[in-house]
Amino acid sequence: MKLRRPAWSGGTVLARAVSSIGQVRWPGIAYVALLASSIGVFLAGAHVAATALIDTQRSRQLGELTETALRRSEVAIDYGIAALDELIQRGPMSCDSVSLQAVRLHVYQRGTVKDIRSVSRDGSVLCSAYSETLEFDRGWVHRNDMLPAADEAVRLFRVDQFFGVALGVLKDVDASRALVAILGINAYLYDIMPAELRDHAEVVLDLRNDQTVAQYHSPAQAGSLQKAIVFAKDSDRYPLRTLIRVESEAFRQWHQEPYIPIMGLALVLGVAFGLLLASAATRPQSPIAELDRALAAQEFRPYLQPVFNMHTGAIVGCEVLARWVRNDGTILPPSRFIPLAESSGRIVPMTWQIVSAALGELQPLLKQDKNFKVAVNIVPHHLTIPGFVDRLREVVAKVKVAPRQVIVELTEREELEDLTKVVTVIGSLRNFGFKVAIDDVGTGHNGLSHIQQLGANIIKIDKFFVDSIGRDPTGVAIIEMLVRLARELKMNVLAEGIETDEQISALLACDVEEGQGYFVSPPVPIAEFFGLLERHRAALASATSGWRAVPARVA
Ligand code: C2E
Ligand code: CA
Ligand code: CA
Repeated sequence: MKLRRPAWSGGTVLARAVSSIGQVRWPGIAYVALLASSIGVFLAGAHVAATALIDTQRSRQLGELTETALRRSEVAIDYGIAALDELIQRGPMSCDSVSLQAVRLHVYQRGTVKDIRSVSRDGSVLCSAYSETLEFDRGWVHRNDMLPAADEAVRLFRVDQFFGVALGVLKDVDASRALVAILGINAYLYDIMPAELRDHAEVVLDLRNDQTVAQYHSPAQAGSLQKAIVFAKDSDRYPLRTLIRVESEAFRQWHQEPYIPIMGLALVLGVAFGLLLASAATRPQSPIAELDRALAAQEFRPYLQPVFNMHTGAIVGCEVLARWVRNDGTILPPSRFIPLAESSGRIVPMTWQIVSAALGELQPLLKQDKNFKVAVNIVPHHLTIPGFVDRLREVVAKVKVAPRQVIVELTEREELEDLTKVVTVIGSLRNFGFKVAIDDVGTGHNGLSHIQQLGANIIKIDKFFVDSIGRDPTGVAIIEMLVRLARELKMNVLAEGIETDEQISALLACDVEEGQGYFVSPPVPIAEFFGLLERHRAALASATSGWRAVPARVA
């Protein structure tokens, strides 16, 4: 007889179990934390990078402006020297009025040149194109105090005037005489600075002896600069340097424009990277890793379904049925994890976890009612692992429960690999006082002959046959046959999946003595089971028209 019940074992069920376990996700908090830290890291990095980049840009730009100021000053001096060269080429400059008139024309044509003077070897003035300008001078340096340029025939010096300063450019004419051009360079430094900095900066042209010869700062800029940052550039050709001084606060505020876009970009990248990272990190773990995690977190919990006496309705025992109670509160039935637990070997630690918990929590009840029996489901493979019986004895002894109150349910759904070994273990279990039930009889791969060989105490008639009551006479015939066989082998019979009064009548007629099913109760958590026992007992005691009217009140 090989009737097959619609079992959940098989490829598709396994796949479903895998995918359902795979849906387990980390709590959203881990996701949010990863996203937030990614954004934080990107923003912090971008802030450092943007600040450094903007700083480099500002410094480079001000360096270039310093260079521009220097080039302009050099060009002004080049013009002055060119004017002197032209005069020198015309022949020796004399101090008579006609010659000076020609020189004045020269000066007039050149904006930067304010005056041209003829000087002696030591630098003292012989005559001037505009002799009146001599009165503006506050002092006049000796040749030795003039600073030589790269071209040794050229010397630069400061001309102190009552209304400011000017730059003197001397060019030797011969061994005894030289010409000097008086240059006003301030205008060349005008408008160099960008508008945003103009009121907080100054541009200065210094001789190499630190004497300032030209300077520009905005009229709005009152007093000296506060905490200035200085950029300087020396000339290769003339003993000159330009300096740009900018107030550090104004410098910091300048060119901030790229900051916001850079930070915006960093935010976008941070979010994108964070999403990738968070989804990678919180990607569901492999189903087996998820089983291991749940094992470590003791998420596999025993639920109990009462076993009742068919004649009296009294609850005489229970079956332990596993549930995966996940930390998010969802509860998965065995079909969603037992197949994977079996194929991955996790069924062994899982079984011990469930059995220990159930026996531990039922201990007071088992002690109080010595006839109460608890049935646990053990897969054949687990049963045949060396040391199984000893371990079970240990677990049972630890919670001080008598072995005769423990029923080992062995499913014969899968083909038994090593029948001899199973028979030996069943014999050993019975020797130690345990009871053994054959689960799902008639629905698996093994023939009825096994029942005789296995030497168990109890036959559990599957729900498949109970369901057929009232629909298919063959089902009832098989139940009758199984009961007869059990009687011959001195075994007890239990029918599973009893839901209706009609089924109970039929099963009683078949002489089935114990039952299990929603008719009394579905599997419930242990705490609820104790309450159920109480209520059921009370209901039975007060029942007047037979126990079968009771469960409706209990449910
Ligand atoms: P099973 O050992 O044949 O357990 C009986 C199953 O029938 C249980 O399903 C139970 O909830 C269900 N059932 C009982 N009465 C009724 C009823 O009146 N109507 C209906 N519709 N169903 C009823 P569950 O708990 O989903 O367990 C399914 C199977 O998972 C079990 O079949 C058993 O083979 C396996 N299983 C459960 N817990 C464990 C365990 O701890 N270890 C092992 N190895 N297998 C387990
Ligand atoms: Ca079972
Ligand atoms: Ca069963």
